[in-house]
Amino acid sequence: MSKIAIMGAMPEEVEPIVAKLDNLQTMTYGANTYYEGVYHGQEVVVAYSKIGKVFATLTATMLIEKFGCDTLLFSGVAGAISDELKIGDLIIADGLCQHDLDITAFGHPYGFVPEGEVCIPTDVNLRKIAKEVAASKGLTLREGVIATGDQFVANAERKDWIGSEFKADALEMEGASVAVVCSALEVPFFILRAISDSADMDASFNFDEFLESSAKISADFILSMVDAIHSK
Ligand code: SAH
Repeated sequence: MSKIAIMGAMPEEVEPIVAKLDNLQTMTYGANTYYEGVYHGQEVVVAYSKIGKVFATLTATMLIEKFGCDTLLFSGVAGAISDELKIGDLIIADGLCQHDLDITAFGHPYGFVPEGEVCIPTDVNLRKIAKEVAASKGLTLREGVIATGDQFVANAERKDWIGSEFKADALEMEGASVAVVCSALEVPFFILRAISDSADMDASFNFDEFLESSAKISADFILSMVDAIHSK
């Protein structure tokens, strides 16, 4: 039977999910706690990585290699680039890029390293399931590129640059790491974010105010995704 990994970056992003699990067992490994349990009959392993690309890479790898998960769903919050995204709105990534990866001095585009790709696509089937879940709940789901980097962006100029360089609609600090790991290990993955701020001068205030509520919106949707995947 399949085992689904559910990952976040911060405790607030996974707590609403862990709270709903049956047969909960915790295991600490590599300085992370992994929550193994069952949601409506589906085996899951939940963890938050801590913030940023390096920690996210570690946790995604562990969820797959150590815990044997064969699907990975990420739930969390993000800063909006698109003006159409408001606080609490949901966006799913069709692809993820690293906005802070820069060897342009050698003539490469931003976000590119040899043998890599600028934008890594997410699993088409999981995106399709997400759209079905959204339709059944009457929710609007935006789909677009999500840009990842080791920076909390609270600057309109930087956000606009990321938006135009990568055609990105939202930005955060972990998604592209998960994409690199899952594509290398050939594990289908899905990245969902609810908007917590608009990555401009008000970002840190908005983030503090909306982290919990937006994280909960994303977590609730992910749990519905688990139901939908389990019933397939
Ligand atoms: N307040 C936290 C730091 C949060 S960093 C502390 O003091 O510890 C922001 C987190 O939310 C990251 O995990 C990132 O993925 C996401 N995020 C939300 N808005 C963001 C933004 N404007 N820029 C970058 N990441 C953002």
